[in-house]
Amino acid sequence: MGARVVIRARGRYLAAMSEADPIAVPKQRKPDWIRVKAPTSVGFAETRKLMRSLNLATVCEEAACPNIGECWTKKHATVMILGDTCTRACAFCNVKTGMPRAVDPLEPEHVATAAAELGLTHIVVTSVDRDDLPDGGAKQFVRVIEALRRNTPSTTIEILTPDFRNKPEAAVEAIVAARPDVYNHNLETVPRLYPTIRPGARYYASLRLLESVKRQDPSIFTKSGVMVGLGEQRLEVHQVMDDMRSADVDFLTMGQYLQPTPRHARVEEFVTPQAFSAYAAIARAKGFLLVAASPLTRSSYHAGDDFAKMKTAREAKLAAAR
Ligand code: SF4
Repeated sequence: MGARVVIRARGRYLAAMSEADPIAVPKQRKPDWIRVKAPTSVGFAETRKLMRSLNLATVCEEAACPNIGECWTKKHATVMILGDTCTRACAFCNVKTGMPRAVDPLEPEHVATAAAELGLTHIVVTSVDRDDLPDGGAKQFVRVIEALRRNTPSTTIEILTPDFRNKPEAAVEAIVAARPDVYNHNLETVPRLYPTIRPGARYYASLRLLESVKRQDPSIFTKSGVMVGLGEQRLEVHQVMDDMRSADVDFLTMGQYLQPTPRHARVEEFVTPQAFSAYAAIARAKGFLLVAASPLTRSSYHAGDDFAKMKTAREAKLAAAR
């Protein structure tokens, strides 16, 4: 029921966009600083073949991530569990919307096999929103964490979850108890833009989710991200940083929003690399353990290296407090 309401909402949104501009919106020209090379490497082809053979979806492909050539060449892929179909319809996201298939019981073992075959020291696992499931898909996250711990115990685990609308406490409790190394949940944008950009979600519910993870297990690193270029104001972004810090979020990621198709929300601004550096400086001053802010930063971009940096930063902070 909830899913159908959301799907209709997206229909209205797309219809409104087409009415406003019946001729397809012209593709927006990207500035030089966000051009990327086409993926052609052997590593890229091998990563794709492995994912296909294990029947795993990746957010790298489904979200049309611009970093796919670089990441897959290094065999870094972000697995998207619970299928490839989302019950939400966010205006920024390229993942397909509809009624998803049944949960695949083999998926946790397949994720563990992928981690082993790719030789991952750090894996990022995300999912589509599954508002159709009583637990929002939390149990599948737990099964994936357990399968990874069994099969590749030295791989550190980062999960990037949905907001588990209407069931966040139980879902978060179950996942926190499974002890991922990093719990990521993206705020995505400033609260003013939620009704158009992330209409199925609530800003403060997402913030409370992050706060709840930290309250339940302070040893788990928490991470959250925002996209810029959607029409947000600089001071609104600073407020989001403050809100994240008040929820004790450790790691902030910020990247340029890119319009996946002309039917998605338009890019209102291409934020310059200098402006990203200024945001990063402000965020560091606000006390994040780690900040990654650049046009091509994505939640899972360089996640393994950043996890190591975050651990070092925490150790340094604890040492300084002694
Ligand atoms: S940045 Fe993340 S989503 Fe994009 S290609 Fe790399 S691992 Fe995949």
